[in-house]
Amino acid sequence: TDQRVFNFSAGPAMLPLPVLEQARDEMLCLPGVGASVLEISHRSPAFIAIIEAAEANLRTLLGVPDDYAILFLQGGGRLQFWMTAANLIGDLGAQKGKSADYLLTGSWGKQAMAEAKKAGPVRVAYDSSATNFDRLPAPFCEGAAKMDLDPDAAYVHYTCNETIQGVQFPTEPDTGGVPLVCDASSDFLHKPLDISKYGLIYACAQKNAGPAGVTIVVVKKDLVANASPDLPVYCNYNTHIADNSLNNTPPTFSIYIVKLVTEWLMQEFGDLKAVHHHNQKKAGLLYDVLDASPDFYIGHAQPGCRSLMNVAFRLPSDDLTDAFLSGAKKRNLTDLKGHRSVGGARASIYNAMPIEGVEALRDYMVEFRSEQG
Ligand code: PMP
Repeated sequence: TDQRVFNFSAGPAMLPLPVLEQARDEMLCLPGVGASVLEISHRSPAFIAIIEAAEANLRTLLGVPDDYAILFLQGGGRLQFWMTAANLIGDLGAQKGKSADYLLTGSWGKQAMAEAKKAGPVRVAYDSSATNFDRLPAPFCEGAAKMDLDPDAAYVHYTCNETIQGVQFPTEPDTGGVPLVCDASSDFLHKPLDISKYGLIYACAQKNAGPAGVTIVVVKKDLVANASPDLPVYCNYNTHIADNSLNNTPPTFSIYIVKLVTEWLMQEFGDLKAVHHHNQKKAGLLYDVLDASPDFYIGHAQPGCRSLMNVAFRLPSDDLTDAFLSGAKKRNLTDLKGHRSVGGARASIYNAMPIEGVEALRDYMVEFRSEQG
């Protein structure tokens, strides 16, 4: 473990060390089972206990009521782009005849809409692409355009945290009662949610909840109940609701890690309120550096929508960016390169990034800035 770096990757991202240690210790043999989690049937009592515990932990942490199902699916966030729409709009959707509103606040929301369009009619209700997705609608960001919502929409889809641009909704957009469908892939479990505001939340696990391979869906059962049985079996939420995510062989190892991560959250923090507080503190350390040198570290997100998970900023030139990134690497601060569509640097600081990692980055940023005179 002394060779481990502070890895600021946007995902797959750092996992908590105690989770990795437990997975290592149990790799050859799960206690009392006589085999590894990789080798047992998904219908064995040992695995059923694991998936039930993962679900129970998520229900506890997020306060998910019984009228919502929690599903463990494959296909990543990207399959959900289409699957949410296919279950709700278009010829096979539960709300056939209606269209869906999309808030485009970053690259992922844009891709979500492009996929949804293949399932049924969609509308743009907000689009900040003209300013390279640096803001949210008013009232979140002052001076920004307002949402243009269809009161009869089947749902409003939004991306609560845009991983690439580092733009995050501080709270849910007000849709006046139209169900919210939310891509929470990059900030799931970073704070408490009022689940009753949502029709459906999906999140690939490989940023905040576990490893790649599993995508968690929290869905209000009656919202999708009327989806057509003509949907492909795997792509119908009702299949997985009926079969407790065991219709096909689920990604067993990934679900096991989600169980360990949720246990770690409860042991380390108690609840998601404490997790949120910790994340605000961590992100605050970096945004303070940006605010102290706004001409040197140029933040991408406008005030009012800065992400607690992905801090995206540019430096004044490509040469300085390269020097910054290579100096960081020498200090074991890795994977800080920004996405090519934004440039610069991006520090992804999900739940598992310890505050010591953020402090080390903060210290380096201050030092690098002062070295430039
Ligand atoms: N949505 C968001 C917000 C993401 O950050 C990502 C992955 N970076 C995805 C969707 C796509 O997830 P996947 O690669 O699991 O399909």
